[in-house]
Amino acid sequence: MPVALYPGSFDPIHNGHIDIAERAARLFDWIVVAVYDSPSSKRLLFTTEQRVDLARQALQHLPTVQVIPYRGLTVDIAHQVGASALVRGLRATSDYEYEAQLALTNRALAPDIDTVMLITSLQYAYLSASILKEVAALGGDISHWAPPLVVQALLNLHRP
Ligand code: ADP
Repeated sequence: MPVALYPGSFDPIHNGHIDIAERAARLFDWIVVAVYDSPSSKRLLFTTEQRVDLARQALQHLPTVQVIPYRGLTVDIAHQVGASALVRGLRATSDYEYEAQLALTNRALAPDIDTVMLITSLQYAYLSASILKEVAALGGDISHWAPPLVVQALLNLHRP
């Protein structure tokens, strides 16, 4: 039964992430969405608990998708959950350099695990969590880019 790990910060989860999870769920029997607990290089808006909770609610329509928090090496958690693949989403070519570096590093660490990269759906090609957070902070309409519960969570943060 092929299992895949879909790791990321998901700060917060948005429609581009959800689209990748839905498509990955058609390719694999089981998907574990792994929310990275503390990326040292990133300033996060939501706590790990909040990011996991939002992801769980946003993905609850997918019965073969599970959401967990994780720390440490991605390949270690992949081994722990029995995943043979890592799923990542690719937007513009600008994502490629970083994703290729990550995939090659993970492959060097764990040759038994492959990275499967899915190209974004056209309508989410320019969507990132950073853009989402910036537009939300400035009071713009983000309802096309995130599910209502995520929109609400962002509004709650920015309510005076
Ligand atoms: P990370 O912190 O590891 O970059 P993110 O939470 O930003 O993780 O994203 C997780 C994964 O989802 C990454 O592979 C990223 O490229 C992908 N992703 C982010 N935004 C989109 C989008 N709009 N369309 C498709 N994939 C996306």
